[in-house]
Amino acid sequence: MLQARHALHRVAQALGVRAPELRDLPGAANAFATANGAVLVDVAWLEAHLRRACGDGRCRESVLVFLMGHELAHVILGHGFVPMPGRTMSMELDADHVAGVAMGRLGVDPRAAIEVLAGLMQHACWPTHGCPDQRAMAIWKGYGRGLCEGRLAA
Ligand SMILES: [Zn+2]
Repeated sequence: MLQARHALHRVAQALGVRAPELRDLPGAANAFATANGAVLVDVAWLEAHLRRACGDGRCRESVLVFLMGHELAHVILGHGFVPMPGRTMSMELDADHVAGVAMGRLGVDPRAAIEVLAGLMQHACWPTHGCPDQRAMAIWKGYGRGLCEGRLAA
């Protein structure tokens, strides 16, 4: 939980917004952004994935920053108000793009997150989230933009 909260604070700072509340949602096997702007994550589920998929600290950082960036993006873009079945693939890809921007600004390498994400999707296309390659593209585009902005600001 601490690592997730730390990652959420970092992405919020990178995106220039206040960090939303982060709550554990045991048994959900997922992460969500809610209508009142909180981020919910099943911490045990997240930890199990990190342990299985990530060898080192850099991988954990990449996955956590991506995941928190993606959920925070839903909050920023107002998607929390849209009930889950109404979420569109373009909303998901927009959230991936914004997560990529945050990663670029923070200088966090997205490669591990992209790999873990594809594994999580079982390398299949989802009607809700698109295909792993589409998501990777959205993340890289955002990352490139964020990286440029980070360099311009430095
Ligand atoms: Zn999403």
